[in-house]
Amino acid sequence: MSTVPEYFASRVFDDKVMRARLPEKVYKSLRQTIDQGKPLDLQLANAVATAMCAWAVENGATHFTHWFQPLTGITAEKHDSFINGAPDGRVIMELTGKALIQGEPDASSFPSGGLRATFEARGYTAWDPTSYAFIKEKTLCIPTAFCSYGGEALDKKTPLLRSMEALNRQALRILKLFGSTDVKRVVTNVGPEQEYFLVDRAMYEKRKDLIYTGRTLFGAKPPKGQELEDHYFGAIKPRVQAYMDELNEELWKLGVLAKTEHNEVAPAQHELAPIYATTNVATDHNQLTMEIMKKVARKHGLVCLLHEKPFAGVNGSGKHNNWSMSTDTGENLLSPGETPYENARFLLFLVAVIKAVDEYSDLLRLAVATAGNDHRLGANEAPPAVVSMFLGDELSAVLDAIETDSPYAGAEKKKLRLGVDILPLFSRDTTDRNRTSPFAFTGNKFEFRMVGSNDSIACANIMINASVAEALRQFADALEGAEDFDGALHALIKEQIIAHKRIIFNGNGYDDAWIKEATEVRGLPNLRTTADALPKLLEQKNVDMLTRHQIFSVSELRSRYEIQLENYVRTVRIEALTMADMARREILPAVAAYAAALADGMAKKKAAEPDVSCGYEGKVVKKLSCLTDCADSKTDAIEKAVTELDALGDVTKEAGFVRDTVLPRMAELRAVCDEAETLTAASYWPFPTYGDLLFGV
Ligand code: ADP
Ligand code: MG
Repeated sequence: MSTVPEYFASRVFDDKVMRARLPEKVYKSLRQTIDQGKPLDLQLANAVATAMCAWAVENGATHFTHWFQPLTGITAEKHDSFINGAPDGRVIMELTGKALIQGEPDASSFPSGGLRATFEARGYTAWDPTSYAFIKEKTLCIPTAFCSYGGEALDKKTPLLRSMEALNRQALRILKLFGSTDVKRVVTNVGPEQEYFLVDRAMYEKRKDLIYTGRTLFGAKPPKGQELEDHYFGAIKPRVQAYMDELNEELWKLGVLAKTEHNEVAPAQHELAPIYATTNVATDHNQLTMEIMKKVARKHGLVCLLHEKPFAGVNGSGKHNNWSMSTDTGENLLSPGETPYENARFLLFLVAVIKAVDEYSDLLRLAVATAGNDHRLGANEAPPAVVSMFLGDELSAVLDAIETDSPYAGAEKKKLRLGVDILPLFSRDTTDRNRTSPFAFTGNKFEFRMVGSNDSIACANIMINASVAEALRQFADALEGAEDFDGALHALIKEQIIAHKRIIFNGNGYDDAWIKEATEVRGLPNLRTTADALPKLLEQKNVDMLTRHQIFSVSELRSRYEIQLENYVRTVRIEALTMADMARREILPAVAAYAAALADGMAKKKAAEPDVSCGYEGKVVKKLSCLTDCADSKTDAIEKAVTELDALGDVTKEAGFVRDTVLPRMAELRAVCDEAETLTAASYWPFPTYGDLLFGV
């Protein structure tokens, strides 16, 4: 087999391939389109399409698809073959520039939140040349954005690209103030660390809850969970290693820089982290990674669970979104740098992020709100639903010194004068100890830890980019007219620290005392559920900000509100029905059968020996009968709740009802059934237990 450098990105129409295959003029124009967002004309597109098609066919592709990310959260594709009839009756393989640039999927069944319903059912996809085309199996996938004919975004990529553009615009204004006129573009970068569980496929197939909902809806705690923490960074089992090896190989062929892999805290939980890329590419690659993870697992007799909380009582899965801003000249704007000038610039970008997170923490929270992620945020595991920021002691001390005009307790113990003094380098060691913070500074980037494992990272990054763009806009407005730039800069940074320091918290984010302080003393929002968080999307300050930067229109925001809430309601409704079904047709019959067998045995013993005690059997039969009666009525209650839910007819009301009635009733049924599990003979239990699933690979 060939070496990694030989096959890396062998399935990608990347820069190397473009340079080799495109006429020089075409290559240069395409590069300008990619790097600077310059428009691409049809003639050029024709040349690119021809080269792309020839390359794809040589690499075994027969079809092409516009690959896009509708609001369902998964990626969508509709395959067309390259085949076209030639005049002599044979076929040619062909891709036109027009077909490359724009597609028209029959999109009427993708969610639009009412955006298309009234006037135009169709949507169109538009090529995004900033993300390279690639071959998946026999199909050339062309990354695209997905819009309605009115131009409204129906996907996650369009607003993501708009948010990157907004940040670029504002960051360039700031850099100009610092005299950096050579910088032409500022991009945001993301390295998403992806957590997942692996379970045995044969066991998975015996559990309707896993099949229908991706998580276990029942299951008593096994005697051993994650308390020994012996899985974290532990030796990787051969079967899992074989899976990871193949996964890496598949991802590398697709140009995904899969880099680190290790076991996570919970048994059967693992993590994969790629090397970071621009946010747009990182988002596409993460979608691809999730898809390939699931596909490769099947080949190894495994199933990859990406749900945020597949198992109650053990850690759930998230995605750590490592985020930074950098220039096309190769500078990381969140790196303190080595000169006083770079330090001052760093501090300004840093306080921009602090201000952004404080003012728009509600947007960050709702960007990651799903039924699945609600089980993680707000439960006793990382991170809490209250958004706060961790800066670490060193950096906090610097901000304190600026705020209070007092000597900085660093090396020289003197007052910090921005633009004159040099900050220490914030080493990763001192900045990365806190693992409980939702938004942590880790040396030269921020790590947003609230994203759900199953979610696209697009939504979170749209909101991060947008709110930082807004902070930078205000800073640029304030500084552009300043006569004494250094003085104004110092004053601005100081004023921002005072205004937004409430969002900074370096302590333990799991602590109940913190949640109390955050909400009661600092006034930070605690949006525990999706139903609580989503309405914030339509709050005036948020609508104003997102429309000001042309990231969303008002109608796009409304549609997203509807779709995200609808998704929450539908997800829980499926879970409720699955629970009722499993209780009625699997758990209740099994427990009743076991109780009957015990009663039978008891009768037989008594017939043989009337004085025999049968205390054990009697006790268990009584308890199980009690539990089955109770489970039966709790199942009734769930079914009734679903009927009531269906009659509400308004998604906001439905979401509230799901939170207040459906989910609590599900928890009640679960508690009863889990107790019954602990009293029922293993041979009677109808599906694999937590112990089987968590320790079965
Ligand atoms: P952790 O200790 O959080 O697991 P890792 O080093 O394993 O840290 O992963 C951190 C992630 O952050 C990787 O995906 C890495 O590529 C990414 N990363 C590193 N530097 C940057 C940066 N400047 N901007 C964005 N992401 C970055
Ligand atoms: Mg991390």
